[in-house]
Amino acid sequence: MAEKVLKGIAASDGVAIAKAYMLVDPDLSFEKTTVSDTDAEVARLHDAFDASKAELKVIKDKAVENLGEEEAEVFEAHITILSDPEMLGQIEGKIKDDKVNAEEALKEVTDTFISMFEAMTDNAYMQERAGDIRDVTKRVLSHLLGVTLPSPALIDSEVIVVAHDLTPSDTAQLDRKYVKGFITDIGGRTSHSAIMSRTLEIPAVVGSESATTDIKEGDTVVLDGINGDALVAPTDAEVADYQQKAKDFVAQKAEWAKLKNEATVSKDGKHFELASNIGTPDDMDGVLDAGSEAIGLFRSEFLYMNSSELPDEDTQFEAYKKVVEGMNGKPVIVRTMDIGGDKELPYLPLPDEMNPFLGYRAIRISLDRDDIFRTQLRALLRASHYGQLRIMFPMIATLDEFRKAKAIFEEEKAKLVAAGTPVADDIKLGIMIEIPAAAILADQFAKEVDFFSIGTNDLIQYSFAADRGNEQVSYLYQPYNPSLLRLIKHVIDAAHANGRFTGMCGEVAGDQIAVPLLMGLGLDEFSMSSTSVLKTRSLMKKLDTKEMAKLADKALNECVTNEEVKELVEKNVFGK
Ligand code: PEP
Ligand code: MG
Repeated sequence: MAEKVLKGIAASDGVAIAKAYMLVDPDLSFEKTTVSDTDAEVARLHDAFDASKAELKVIKDKAVENLGEEEAEVFEAHITILSDPEMLGQIEGKIKDDKVNAEEALKEVTDTFISMFEAMTDNAYMQERAGDIRDVTKRVLSHLLGVTLPSPALIDSEVIVVAHDLTPSDTAQLDRKYVKGFITDIGGRTSHSAIMSRTLEIPAVVGSESATTDIKEGDTVVLDGINGDALVAPTDAEVADYQQKAKDFVAQKAEWAKLKNEATVSKDGKHFELASNIGTPDDMDGVLDAGSEAIGLFRSEFLYMNSSELPDEDTQFEAYKKVVEGMNGKPVIVRTMDIGGDKELPYLPLPDEMNPFLGYRAIRISLDRDDIFRTQLRALLRASHYGQLRIMFPMIATLDEFRKAKAIFEEEKAKLVAAGTPVADDIKLGIMIEIPAAAILADQFAKEVDFFSIGTNDLIQYSFAADRGNEQVSYLYQPYNPSLLRLIKHVIDAAHANGRFTGMCGEVAGDQIAVPLLMGLGLDEFSMSSTSVLKTRSLMKKLDTKEMAKLADKALNECVTNEEVKELVEKNVFGK
C-alpha cells in the first residue's frame, strides 16, 4: 500500500507519476530588532539584494527559454527595481538612522513605496509597480532570512506540483513540458486552477485538503485526475496498475481522435456547434487537435494576467488576430476582460472586499475604467477584419449594463471606421448568462443581444449561493438540479423565441451527464476545454435529440434532486 492516499476533486483527466515539487511559500515572518553594527547590517542588505538579482537573472533566462520573452518580462522588471539606487538608499538610511535590522528597514521602506504607487489612481503604469515591489520585497526578505522561495519557472525535470492553491498567474508560469500534473489543498471543479489544468491538458486533483502537509518535496506521487486520487510513495504494484490506467486512457483518446474531422451531428441528424474554451493564443494547438468547430470562450483576462502591465492595444490586437486567423473563418467569441473574483492583476490593485465574487469585477470594472475597456474594444474591432469575431460581456446583471457596454463599443467602432481602419460590420455582441437576474430576464435581453452564452460556473455559484472555490460547500455544485435546468431552459427558449442562439461555456457544457439533457433542451453551442471536445462529439453522435428532449422533460418536471436527474441519465443513456 502507498504511504498515504489522498482524495480530492477530479479536475482534469489523465494519470501522471512523478516526483513532488512543493510550490509553497516559506515562512517569511521576522521580529523587529535593534542593531548596533549598522555597517554589518547594510552589508547584509547588499548581499541579499545581490543574491536576489543573481537569482532573478537565472529565473529570467530560464523563463525566456521555457515560457517565452513575454512571460519573462516580469522578472526583468524586478531586476530593474532592485537596481534602483533610490529604494536601496532609503533602506540603508533607515538601518543607519533608526538602528533597525535590515528586514524591518526593507519592510518599512517598501510599504511606503507600495502605498504611494497604489494611491496613484490616475496613473495605471505607476499603480502596476506596487505588485512588482511586493514580489521583489518577498524575494529580498527570503535571502535575508536564509529561506528559499519556490520558482516554478526553474522547474526542469518532470514533476507533480503540490500547492495550497494555484492562482491563474502561478499556473501561467508552469511549463507543460515538465509539469505532469498538480494537486492542491483547496478549490473546486470550476475554480480557475482546475479550468487551467484542463486547458493545459495536465491531470489535476483539487480540494484534497491536505496535499501540502501530507506530501513532501521529492516524494513519488501517483496522480489520478480521472478519479481524483493521489498516492504518496506508491508500491511497485500500484505504479504498474496506474501505468496501465494511463495507457488505457491514451488508447481511449486515440479512439476519440478519429472523430477529429467529423461534424457534430446527432443520431437523428441535428447539427450542434462544438467549441473550445481558451485562455491565450498558445491554446490554439489544442483547439485544432480537437477539431473544434468554434471558439466559444476566449478568456481574454489571461492576456492581462500573463503580462506585467496592462497590455496595450497592439499587443492585444496581435493576440486576437492570431486566434481569429487560426480559426480560418470559424467563429471566435472573445469575452471582454473578466478580472476580479479570484482573478487578480498585480498591477491593477482592486479594493479589499468582503465578497470579491459579489464585488467589483468583470463588466463592472470595464464600465468604471472605460479607458481599459476602450483599448480592448479597439483591439477587438481591428482583429474582426481577419475572420469571424464575436464579442461577449461577462457578468451582465442588467440591461442597462449591456446598453452602456454596447454604446461604448459603437463609439469606438465609429472612430475606427472614420479613421479608415477596416473592421467587420457584422460583429455579433452577446452576453454571458452568469447572474440569475439576467437569466430570469432573458426574454427581454434577447430583444437586444445577438446571443447568450451560459456561464454555469458562476450561474451555479450565484443560484445556490455557494462559493465555487470552496470545497466545504462543493456539495452545492449541482449541475443537474432541476432548478438550474429550468433556468437554462428558460434562457434557451427566450433566445429561440427571438431568433437568437444560445451557447454554454461553463464546465457543464462538457459534462457527460449534462450533455444529453442540454441536447434535449435545444442548446445550440457547447463550449468546453479542448480536451473534452472529442469525447463529447463521440457521445453526441450516438444520441437522438427527440429522445433527449423527452428525457430532459422528465428531468425538469418529474425529478426533484440533482441525484435523481443523474440517475435518470445514467440509466437511460449509459445503461447503468
Ligand atoms: C462561467 O462562469 O461559467 C464562465 C465560463 O466564466 P469563468 O469560469 O471564467 O468565470
Ligand atoms: Mg464566470
